[in-house]
Amino acid sequence: MTCAACKGNMMRKRGDLDLRVKGELYIAHNVCFEECANCGELVLDPETSDIIYKRIKLKQYSKQKMDIPVLDLAMGI
Ligand SMILES: [Zn+2]
Repeated sequence: MTCAACKGNMMRKRGDLDLRVKGELYIAHNVCFEECANCGELVLDPETSDIIYKRIKLKQYSKQKMDIPVLDLAMGI
């Protein structure tokens, strides 16, 4: 598979993914996806995104606290 954005090579990977659905941030572990080795573009299988959206809809997730690095570009530019 080649990247839609830059025609680079897409590599099949399994790992963690963060995504925003209706403004809410979700982290998904053990997701299979293709990643462009060149520009980092991510592509999910339709089945995989189906599963993710279904799980979110049915609230099949655990709530966890995370430390997320936050940047504020209003300061110190
Ligand atoms: Zn690319």
